[in-house]
Amino acid sequence: MSTEGGFPSARHDHSACRSDALQRASRLCDSRSVRLTDMRRRVLEDLWRDHRPASAYDILARLNAEEASHGHKPLAPPTVYRALEFLIAQGLVHRLATLNAYIGCTSPERPHGAQFLICRVCGAAAEVADTKIATQLRCVAESAGFALGSQMIELEGLCPRCQSVARDL
Ligand SMILES: [Zn+2]
Ligand SMILES: [Zn+2]
Ligand SMILES: [Zn+2]
Repeated sequence: MSTEGGFPSARHDHSACRSDALQRASRLCDSRSVRLTDMRRRVLEDLWRDHRPASAYDILARLNAEEASHGHKPLAPPTVYRALEFLIAQGLVHRLATLNAYIGCTSPERPHGAQFLICRVCGAAAEVADTKIATQLRCVAESAGFALGSQMIELEGLCPRCQSVARDL
């Protein structure tokens, strides 16, 4: 039994965190002989700008601001949706159903069910993977004769940082 993941500290080196995620993504795509095209990489990079989930609309708006600054025409929404579909299929991104938003996966190398802790104040989301929960879910599904598909669990609450802000008020 083990639990991995959680909220990164407020002082963690996020640019290292982000470049590590992008390097792992490109290694993973190479090893699977699938292409991390420029658009797919840009969407993933955008999702890793911080640890908050983003909607497809947010991503599109930010990419289009970038396009406009280069004097380019705006991207069509399906471009972003198709890139997200690819990233989800490769396990590089998770979709959070309760928020209808997306977030980069912290361990894309292996398929997994994940539990997400989502802060209701700052919107940060942390992926945790607890093998005990995964096993338990499989047992529950099995005993109900249910063929389990996704194992995503989304929990709502307050992240450590927002709790300490609330205490200091
Ligand atoms: Zn980070
Ligand atoms: Zn994940
Ligand atoms: Zn928070």
